[in-house]
Amino acid sequence: MNYKDLADLMFPDAKEISYYEEKYPERNLKEGAIVTRIAPSPTGFTHIGGLYQGLIAKKLAQQTEGVFFVRIEDTDQKREVKNAVSEIVNSLIDFGIGPDEGMISEDGEKGEYGPYKQSLRKEIYQAYAKYLIEQGKAYPCFCTSKEVEEIREKQENAKIRPGYYGVWAKCRKLTVEEMIEKIKAGEPWIVRFKSPGREDKKIKHKDVIKGNVEFPENDQDIVIIKADGLPTYHFAHAVDDHLMRTTHVIRGDEWLSSVPLHLQLFQELGFRAPKYAHIAPIMKNDEGNKRKLSKRKDPEAAVSYYVEEGIPKEAVIEYLLNIANSTFENWRRANPDKSIEEFDLQLNKMSVSGALFDMVKLLDVSKTVISKMTAEQVYNDTLNWAEKYDEELANLLKNNKEYSLKVLGIERGNKKPRKDIGKWSDVKETITYMYEELFKKDETPYPYQVIQDKEAICNILNTYITKYYDEKDDKQTWFDKIKELSGEMGYAKEVKEFKQNPGKYTAHVGDVSTVLRVALTKRTNTPDMYEIMQILGKETIQKRFQKAMRE
Ligand code: GLU
Repeated sequence: MNYKDLADLMFPDAKEISYYEEKYPERNLKEGAIVTRIAPSPTGFTHIGGLYQGLIAKKLAQQTEGVFFVRIEDTDQKREVKNAVSEIVNSLIDFGIGPDEGMISEDGEKGEYGPYKQSLRKEIYQAYAKYLIEQGKAYPCFCTSKEVEEIREKQENAKIRPGYYGVWAKCRKLTVEEMIEKIKAGEPWIVRFKSPGREDKKIKHKDVIKGNVEFPENDQDIVIIKADGLPTYHFAHAVDDHLMRTTHVIRGDEWLSSVPLHLQLFQELGFRAPKYAHIAPIMKNDEGNKRKLSKRKDPEAAVSYYVEEGIPKEAVIEYLLNIANSTFENWRRANPDKSIEEFDLQLNKMSVSGALFDMVKLLDVSKTVISKMTAEQVYNDTLNWAEKYDEELANLLKNNKEYSLKVLGIERGNKKPRKDIGKWSDVKETITYMYEELFKKDETPYPYQVIQDKEAICNILNTYITKYYDEKDDKQTWFDKIKELSGEMGYAKEVKEFKQNPGKYTAHVGDVSTVLRVALTKRTNTPDMYEIMQILGKETIQKRFQKAMRE
């Protein structure tokens, strides 16, 4: 009886690994091409950190003419959630991070290196487990979970390192005959890796992001195939990333301490190990404490949050690049109009300890991104958002398309475009006063500022509309006329003049403009008033002044 007999008994139907080695050959890519992936578990929740990882992986693959694929890690079948694969895949696609290969819908995939869902790769893992058993590098373990628990308790009481290793690895010491006998007797088994490592030895490793790290060797005989016949993460990682010909494993840094084990698995399986790049999680400043962005505590941890708030995808992606490489900000300043595809992302420039997520900054980035969009784009994206989240706004936009395009076009397309919109849910607040049907119903008081006296206000409005306002005026003439009006009313025509002569004037041209602005919009702050008046038109302006004088 030898290992081969044991392996045949355990996995009678498994193929030779040469079958898979040939089926999934080395990829024929240009030198330096990065093949990488994201490998999410289908939990039904897409964390912004997942999008971040996907973005980094996709960008590196793109920059090097490599491949970015999505693999679903669903070997923990207890946790299965309906439609969870489409949730992840659609989020990626929506944000422009669609994979070149791998899962593209709940059950759909593309590419030659599949299946890309681990639960469909059972026979592959078993073939490789069998291969290890044949060589005496893995073995069946018959310990019940109760026995494993007892071992752990003993270790805890004796204050020694927990785990299944060395003298504690009971089944490692069974003879092949004993193993075969137990299997034939119907004892349930799982498969463990026979670790060749020693805890008192160190391994040195160079992580692409973290740099040089040193760990004790792995000496744990970890489980590689569970009772349900499916692999554990560690084993599946080694088999999949080998067969899918991954060159770079870019993943969360909670896996950094597993590197000694993973390198050992690659070694014992006879595979060339990939490069590892461990990404620090996105952090949040919580009243002075830096902590991970948490699914439980922070709504902004969910990708769905950005969709619901109407923060444009372009802005989220742009911001994530900002926190990925601090050099991005300078690059963007120097290249305000370039597509992000032209930015050269560098793994070794990523933060080792975790970049801080800052919502204010994100919205700032978003304001800039939106400021560069055309009115048409803003209209379409806002409408898309509103159709799902704000019916009133959707109707307003749909019923007044041409007019809305003008409204959204205010201060757009020039050198210094408006930057007051950070998300689609801001749009309503910034445009409603432009619609007569809504403005008519607005019963809030007029927020007049320096000039408050009703008679003075009526005087200004009356004089302006009867004597100065002309729809055909260009901007300069329009402004000169407001100066004229100010002079006629006894206010300073220039702010400078006002400041130089304290006590002489009660107000200046700016204050007169404010009266006009407030009467027209009930706001003290709006984009360019000239453009607003052009769009409202004379009739509406008259109506609004009359309303202001009445109320
Ligand atoms: N399923 C693992 C996770 O979600 C994947 C880690 C990896 O990328 O290898 O953390």
